[in-house]
Amino acid sequence: MKLSKKIFTAILCTALVGITAVGTIAVPARANTTNIVQSAKEQTYKKPKYIFNFIGDGMSYVQVNSAQIYKGVTEKGGINLGKLAVSQFPVCGSATTQDSTSFAPDSASTATAISSGVKTHSGVIGYNADKQTKPESITEKLKKEGYKIGIVSSVSIDHATPAAFYAHAVSRKDMYDIALQLADSNFDYFAGGSLVQPNGKNGDQKSAFEIIEEKGYNIVDTKEEILSLNSESGKVYAINPELQDSQAMSYDLDASKDSIRLKDFVEKGIDVLDNEDGFFMMVEGGKIDWAGHANDARSNIQDVIALDEAIGVAVDFAKKHPEETLIIVTGDHETGGMTIGYSTTGYNTAFNLLANQDMSYVAFDELLAEYKKGTTADKAKIEDVLPLIKKHFGLVSPSNAASAKDSALVLTEYEYNKLKDAFAQTMKDSSERTNNQETGILYGGYEPLTVTLTHILNNKAGIGWTSYAHTGVPVPVYAMGEGAELFSGAYDNTDIFNKLVALCELK
Ligand SMILES: [Zn+2]
Repeated sequence: MKLSKKIFTAILCTALVGITAVGTIAVPARANTTNIVQSAKEQTYKKPKYIFNFIGDGMSYVQVNSAQIYKGVTEKGGINLGKLAVSQFPVCGSATTQDSTSFAPDSASTATAISSGVKTHSGVIGYNADKQTKPESITEKLKKEGYKIGIVSSVSIDHATPAAFYAHAVSRKDMYDIALQLADSNFDYFAGGSLVQPNGKNGDQKSAFEIIEEKGYNIVDTKEEILSLNSESGKVYAINPELQDSQAMSYDLDASKDSIRLKDFVEKGIDVLDNEDGFFMMVEGGKIDWAGHANDARSNIQDVIALDEAIGVAVDFAKKHPEETLIIVTGDHETGGMTIGYSTTGYNTAFNLLANQDMSYVAFDELLAEYKKGTTADKAKIEDVLPLIKKHFGLVSPSNAASAKDSALVLTEYEYNKLKDAFAQTMKDSSERTNNQETGILYGGYEPLTVTLTHILNNKAGIGWTSYAHTGVPVPVYAMGEGAELFSGAYDNTDIFNKLVALCELK
């Protein structure tokens, strides 16, 4: 049934005001009323039967455009943007991301804003800013309406972003409690990473996996089992057989040909969830954020591309179900203060240089750990690791310039000295490393040699970073399909929820 757009004119969004200093309770008040649909008065929309909500964690305009530039220069050369599924969406809006305590918010509060339409404290999942009352999330509302619900993440499934779509926790660190809420959610499809605290913070609780199974979930963690999931599989929790850091899926850059990737989990999600009453699937590209924290552009870009391939699966589905499908793609906040353009490259960029990095910072840290095992800080020589650096980043020392694949990959004396300092720090136990303002700026708590390598390669490519944390840059909101037009314009992230509620005629 087509619904008149007028229905929406009655639905108003509210903004939180009265927020006081950090640590005090923010008081929600109804103010700054705006009509969320006034721009499309004459149009009619149908309630979408199939809804996909993709969230690139730490993904703003720069991360998306860096992926386009990288694809363009490596596939076509010249000044050409590569094609992403998301950049062909017909509608793009912009959302602000501040939470009730910070303009550089975290994923717990921002995912809560998207899932539940409220502003809350950083670190809080699915609670209002009073930390006592729980808003009803879009997934809880849709479940009541008969939709099947899917939650997919490339990081652990008890992490803040996925958790905000099925749990309520005053602290995002209560991951055991979050896992138990997964078991009780009765949602239909969970997929991606594993659990960080399956036996509680102290390891002395009953296995959350066991409890999830007792609540009727079919837990699968082999490729064969995952690929055979279908509409008869019942309630599913599919865990990637290849896990990397903190129970997450591998960086897409480190995934092998045979790995289960994010797009596979979306394909399987459609198989499991497709039914007469429709479904809602939230899909998070969580490691975009982690690569942003680590200032690793190559890994960041590859995980944006992996998310985009997963978006492509939804776009193919939408083509088969026109007028019934809505796809929304957004970020929860920006991470790293990534930008295109750097002080030493001026008006030039050279994203093609990034193609010389063939593994994530995490995988390279593992190689360094192997080297550290075989030597001691006083005997370690940077010359020992130069072959590894050349192999995995393409960078060569000034004395070895002739062997460089590209003259732009030769380290300057300035860069080489930075690398030698970082190597000396890396070879020390973390308790013995220099810990001052300068090392904080240079390494941000990461493995000094590795983060210096990504900084050097990124800077040569024309990419700069300003932070190891999140920033206050607004995020894009791409939309296609039924009701997509509602998502144009500039608004607050809570309005993503409000628009969905309006479109789906939810209370
Ligand atoms: Zn983050």
